[in-house]
Amino acid sequence: MLIHGASGRMGRALLRLAADRSDLVVVAAVSSRGDSLAEAGAVPVLPATRLAEVPAFDVAVDFSLPGAFDPLLALCLARGVALVSGTTGLAPAQTAALDAAAARIPVLWAPNFSAGVAVLAELVRQAATALPGWDADVVEAHHIHKKDAPSGTALHLGAAVEAGKGQAPHYASLRAGDIVGEHTVQLSGPGERLELVHRATNRDIFARGALEAALRLAGRAPGRYDFGALLLGKAG
Ligand code: NAD
Repeated sequence: MLIHGASGRMGRALLRLAADRSDLVVVAAVSSRGDSLAEAGAVPVLPATRLAEVPAFDVAVDFSLPGAFDPLLALCLARGVALVSGTTGLAPAQTAALDAAAARIPVLWAPNFSAGVAVLAELVRQAATALPGWDADVVEAHHIHKKDAPSGTALHLGAAVEAGKGQAPHYASLRAGDIVGEHTVQLSGPGERLELVHRATNRDIFARGALEAALRLAGRAPGRYDFGALLLGKAG
């Protein structure tokens, strides 16, 4: 396994949690500058400029920034290995490149690697289907350092609203303090309101979910995989 975006909040959580597992081996980590990281232990940390030199691996786990995504996708294609990415704020051309790559390698991109959000998206779709005439709003709150807005998870939940009622919701974003991630889908009708809420209190849940996804994706047939389906054992 390769960890990409290693010096970030998520990258460090991935390295720390991976070190505790006997069912996976991290062969290298890549961060923008390649500075040494306490969480890396004996795992070599390479700078982004040396990405092409990483040793053989079967799956890359990427939590970096959109600007770092293209070279990693190209590397996974060149090596014929799987890619799990949680990087949010990708441009439409990058999402299209991911779709095209799925013809040659197994890929899984998810805006949220928590089991709770996977279930929430399904509940939102059901609620929006049952209440098509109601107003729909997705409200999200994250820590002050988060760069993209609305969050990838908010857009994912918005897609579930749209799948249910045929109309996109409105979005509202809050950036404050050290909030790990909160999402509320609000459906408002005349005289009543339904709120479906998810609160993440520790980003280890995303790292754990991504490691689990990587273990399950490595060695599979090429294709675009869904986190919820893979987690619940429903992926082909
Ligand atoms: P962060 O800003 O702490 O870390 C970003 C990391 O990307 C940094 O370590 C930086 O070194 C690295 N990076 C930048 N350019 C690079 C390059 N060229 N090559 C390799 N690495 C490079 O951010 P974070 O909180 O760790 O989040 C990272 C990404 O994951 C963001 O897009 C965030 O929105 C997303 N995220 C997704 C989930 C999810 O469940 N899908 C959860 C949390 C965060």
